[in-house]
Amino acid sequence: MPSISDPIISIKGLGKKTSDRLNQLGIHTLEHLVFHLPTRYQDKTSITPLSDAGIHDEILIEATIDRIEVIPSRQRQLLCYLSDNQNHRILLRFFHFNQYQKQALIRGETMQCFGEIKIGRKGLEMHHPEYRIITQNQSPLLEPTLTPIYPLCSGISQNKIKQWVNYSLEVLKISKLDDYFEKITQQSMPSLKSSLMLLHHPEKDEDLSKIESFKHISQQRLIIEELATHRLSLLKTKKARKGKKTNAFILNNTLSDKLLNSIDFNLTNAQSRCIKEINDDLASSEPMLRLLQGDVGSGKTIVAVFALIQAVENNFQAAIMAPTEILARQHLQNFTQYLESLNIQIAYLSGSQNTQERREQLSLIESGKAKVVIGTHALFQDSVNFKDLSLVIIDEQHKFGVHQRLSLTKKANNTPHQLVMTATPIPRSLTMSAYADLDTSIIDELPPGRQAVETIALSNLRRDELISKMRKISNEGRQIYWVCTLIEESEALRAESAEKTFKYLKDHLKDLTVVMIHGRLTKVEKESIMKDFENGRINLLVATTVIEVGVNVPNASLMIVENAERLGLAQLHQLRGRVGRGSEKSICILMYQSPLSDYAKERLDILRQSNDGFMIAQKDLELRGPGEILGTQQTGIASMKIANIVRDAYLLKEAGYYSSKMLEARLESQNALINRWIDEEKTHYFDA
Ligand code: ADP
Ligand code: MG
Repeated sequence: MPSISDPIISIKGLGKKTSDRLNQLGIHTLEHLVFHLPTRYQDKTSITPLSDAGIHDEILIEATIDRIEVIPSRQRQLLCYLSDNQNHRILLRFFHFNQYQKQALIRGETMQCFGEIKIGRKGLEMHHPEYRIITQNQSPLLEPTLTPIYPLCSGISQNKIKQWVNYSLEVLKISKLDDYFEKITQQSMPSLKSSLMLLHHPEKDEDLSKIESFKHISQQRLIIEELATHRLSLLKTKKARKGKKTNAFILNNTLSDKLLNSIDFNLTNAQSRCIKEINDDLASSEPMLRLLQGDVGSGKTIVAVFALIQAVENNFQAAIMAPTEILARQHLQNFTQYLESLNIQIAYLSGSQNTQERREQLSLIESGKAKVVIGTHALFQDSVNFKDLSLVIIDEQHKFGVHQRLSLTKKANNTPHQLVMTATPIPRSLTMSAYADLDTSIIDELPPGRQAVETIALSNLRRDELISKMRKISNEGRQIYWVCTLIEESEALRAESAEKTFKYLKDHLKDLTVVMIHGRLTKVEKESIMKDFENGRINLLVATTVIEVGVNVPNASLMIVENAERLGLAQLHQLRGRVGRGSEKSICILMYQSPLSDYAKERLDILRQSNDGFMIAQKDLELRGPGEILGTQQTGIASMKIANIVRDAYLLKEAGYYSSKMLEARLESQNALINRWIDEEKTHYFDA
């Protein structure tokens, strides 16, 4: 007897090649097919009279053939004129047809056609409808339930997948499908089995508008299960990590008191709270994995410094990894400024060092002389050996693949404490679903005295007006970023376009020092340019988006972004965060290509109206989906089977409750649930 856990290859007529293809959709068993849900439905449950047909409606009609005609132009067409029993007319148009098809269409025969209603010159039309000639005894199109339309992959037709799903549904009827949530839902929701049956073939009296908006209770039943399962999987990872042992730091405030005295500002309450949360973790022998978030300029760096000096107090090493050379270099400067007075030795590693420099740094790290190690990806190369690494801090974590982050933690003798920092505030719904394995600390307060950056949208046609503005700012002794977000297809064209902008700016601002920084420069060249900019030797820095993250030059007070409509909101907010770091009023000009679409206008307006990174990230999530914010880290959240964390955010709380319940359930049940919903190959959660 077939069972729901059978592999799909057991289906008659489904061969190895097809099976491989379906595997790519995450479909391995009949159960997976049952969970392969329709993306939409066609309604062939009733025949619509032509008098009720509206444009763009997808409907089933029944009518009789009045006349056939072939237009013999270069693009041959077969026209079939029909009328229904109330004498309303419609024209079928076929652009591809064969002789056999034409001959079957005979005056006086009655047909059922399903398709989209269009308006032609002479009235209603359908192009290439699905049809059956019922007076020739072809089986009618009329169906008792709504017709599901499934997501496909190449080489697999709608009809085939329908057939396999239907077969699996037959097997489902006689199988037991483990319903792990039955006890928890306590009859408040339909059973899993009936929910699945209904969603594959909704009856015609089912509320289709609810199904269309994913608010049907059967959908909610599945959405909750899927969300809960993703969260469960993350909670399991977290639990496994907490089961490991690491070095518990003995908290000591000697160095932190010194640090507090040496900085010329007071910590905000939010910063102090985050430092305390981190310290509590560090004092425990359970390895910390904490996400530190805060808006641009909220002061995450100093919080990280307080964490790493606890490692130093305990005579352990701490490493800070940044995604780019520029950022790593910047950290080196900042941290040096804070740590020098405390006599803490820092080592620095990056890809552009020569052998001699590198050897020196490696020996500092290996001997344990350097307590703080700062660097890029270079940190986790094989040749790097730490003496006793106990704390890892990852900046801009979304720029790293999970595996890269893990390779660094493997440099420790046991699982180290980890602090990951994000430059982009993460909306709550995303934190709940994609980062449930992390504890989070949020700096939800900016240092006092920060002025909001004034944001202006400007058509690129008015670019010339910016010249005098830039000269004025420079004469006042302040600096400017000009960001080219290049829209050309090829690298060559992009370079050319940036060159053009650069030349334009140089020609019009001959009295200023205008320098361009871009991806094709060597690391050394880039660093030297950034240093010149920091030291005020450059008035106007023309850049591709390399300055996107982290750079801190408080004297820069004007930021101009070209083609701003092309960038994500969170990204624009990041860019904007490069100015407004000093006490001077700063301006960000978002230049756009005219004319601006309504959608693009709405997006730029959000930025004009708000400086709140959390609010902006939420809007970005709604407009562009989770992938944009999560970056290169794959979490599976962006490719769920039925749930969508933006649309279904209102169910997250309930899902959270179920996932906590499931965490207490039997291990086999947990694993079966995860196996049902999560394609391991596509998903890489934080591990360790
Ligand atoms: P981000 O959170 O974007 O990484 P940084 O850590 O780079 O922000 O801090 C931005 C600027 O704010 C730095 O110049 C830093 O010295 C300053 N800063 C940090 N905390 C405070 C504070 N509590 N009061 C005043 N300035 C602060
Ligand atoms: Mg930063």
